[in-house]
Amino acid sequence: MIRFDNVSVVYDGAPAPALSGVDLAVPEGELALLVGPSGVGKSTLLGAVSGLVPHFTGGTLRGRVTVGGRDTRDHPPRELADLVGTVGQDPLSHFVTDTVEDELAYGMESLGLPADTMRRRVEETLDLLGLADLRDRPIASLSGGQQQRVAIGSVLTPHPRVLVLDEPTSALDPAAAEEVLAVLQRLVHDLGTTILLAEHRLERVIQYADQVIVLPTPAATPLTGTPPEMMAI
Ligand code: ADP
Ligand code: ADP
Repeated sequence: MIRFDNVSVVYDGAPAPALSGVDLAVPEGELALLVGPSGVGKSTLLGAVSGLVPHFTGGTLRGRVTVGGRDTRDHPPRELADLVGTVGQDPLSHFVTDTVEDELAYGMESLGLPADTMRRRVEETLDLLGLADLRDRPIASLSGGQQQRVAIGSVLTPHPRVLVLDEPTSALDPAAAEEVLAVLQRLVHDLGTTILLAEHRLERVIQYADQVIVLPTPAATPLTGTPPEMMAI
């Protein structure tokens, strides 16, 4: 479902590639965990799946990224919106409406679906994520774990086959993180969603993963320039 063939990304003006020669394959209906220390290129890799890299970030992508058979270089993110849903670390930065129900509906607005389909999908997603009792609540009044479930719900209503999540539990306490991870597990099992999850706290998520993708830390950059002259004493 997700495939990288020898993918490298160089941001404009950056001294070193953010990703270098990455090969990977995530089969349909699997949860793959992407691990590595901060700065190793996890967000860049997720962005290459959603098409954000390089369409929105600039820079150059070499090699080939395909999602559901589509080459992401040929499709800007809006053309991948029905295929790939993206959730980040901070759910608050994600929201565009005030209430839970409106937020779930918002993600479908550009798809041109009939009103009754949209309503049904909102109901299904509220149930799936255990949000039905919170439907009319202002998002700002919810706990962190509830907000992150709303963020996931809002990208689910277009029925994406792939979900990419960038450290979705990093702002959550352990109990709320469990809530979110349980929801992801349900998506894989009940809907066959393919999930790529970046996380630096391996112990939190490893039990849920079918595959662990480790991004290597780049070799230490050699010092450039000529060393200072030795002073003759
Ligand atoms: P991670 O998610 O593992 O922390 P990132 O993909 O965010 O890693 O970053 C990888 C490298 O690319 C870092 O050195 C980072 O500073 C750089 N980088 C990330 N985004 C950009 C951008 N839009 N422009 C230039 N450099 C970037
Ligand atoms: P419609 O376009 O009428 O909503 P679909 O064919 O897209 O119907 O979906 C049919 C079924 O697929 C739904 O009833 C639901 O169970 C399931 N489904 C597939 N993907 C998702 C998803 N991301 N979120 C919720 N349900 C989904």
